[in-house]
Amino acid sequence: MIKWEAHACLPLHPQADFAPIERFHAAGVNYVSINIGMDMNPLPQVMAVIAGFRATIAAQPGRYLLAANVQDIRDAAAAGKLAIGFDLEGALPLLEQPEMVALYKSLGVRQMHLAYNRNNSVAGGCHDTEQGLTALGRRIVSAINGAGVLMDCSHTGRRCSLDIMAASKQPVIFSHSNPLALVEHGRNVTDEQIRGIAATGGVVCVSGVSKFLGTNTPDADAVARHAAYVADLVGVPHAGIGLDISFAQAGLNDDPPGDYDPAYWWPRSAGYDRSPIARSAYPPIDSWQVLDAALQRTGMTPDEAALVMGGNMMRVAAQVWG
Ligand SMILES: [Zn+2]
Repeated sequence: MIKWEAHACLPLHPQADFAPIERFHAAGVNYVSINIGMDMNPLPQVMAVIAGFRATIAAQPGRYLLAANVQDIRDAAAAGKLAIGFDLEGALPLLEQPEMVALYKSLGVRQMHLAYNRNNSVAGGCHDTEQGLTALGRRIVSAINGAGVLMDCSHTGRRCSLDIMAASKQPVIFSHSNPLALVEHGRNVTDEQIRGIAATGGVVCVSGVSKFLGTNTPDADAVARHAAYVADLVGVPHAGIGLDISFAQAGLNDDPPGDYDPAYWWPRSAGYDRSPIARSAYPPIDSWQVLDAALQRTGMTPDEAALVMGGNMMRVAAQVWG
């Protein structure tokens, strides 16, 4: 059984310590998608992070593998290694050039979304006025499909996410989003959005972030309850896990340079105070060890729990990555 963690956040700093990533591996995870930038991070920062993370991975070939396809993930698991991919949260680091998608792919980016909470020239964000996918956005969705990168709609506005699902010729995912029907929050997704993902053949990976889970003490049972909601609504093949745990590290400041304003990206009107890292609780990484049992307590069979923990994302990645 492959266990797939669809989203984790190290400090966006080239010298970030991979110890937390090692703990995912110790907890049984086989593949983890690591964030390498968001819309508020300028290109020099994103490139430095990619270079630093690639160097860390390359320096420990006995531990890590930058996965290009699902066979790499199976091979890494068989060899006792952790497979890693990168994800980009927003289209601004594409510099309005669809050709940038394939370049990021060649650097290890395996999943991408087009807006981070706020609108941009490509897509609408979930904490902004409604904006559909722009003409440039359609070209970028096409480039993401063409490059074999997972099309991700987390942080995207509702109308725009439905536009992306309609435009994409490949399955679309939410890598870290929770059902709005369980917790009312602008970052959470409607039943219509969840049905839209399922219609593309994609997966809704639920997060472990306290605010979006609706509990101050997130744990495997709370995560399983949200995954079970998705499974009950659209079927087990469309539920997954992306805990979205953010790891701050002492001495590493990963704030974007310049006039960066956290209150713009995480607006108080949407219930944030300062950055999400400062105000969120996450389930322990070890939750991965008890998630199987927690999913089965919701009524899933062992086979169904295995699909939610990784089998479903393996299916989608096999189709999208090629
Ligand atoms: Zn995110």
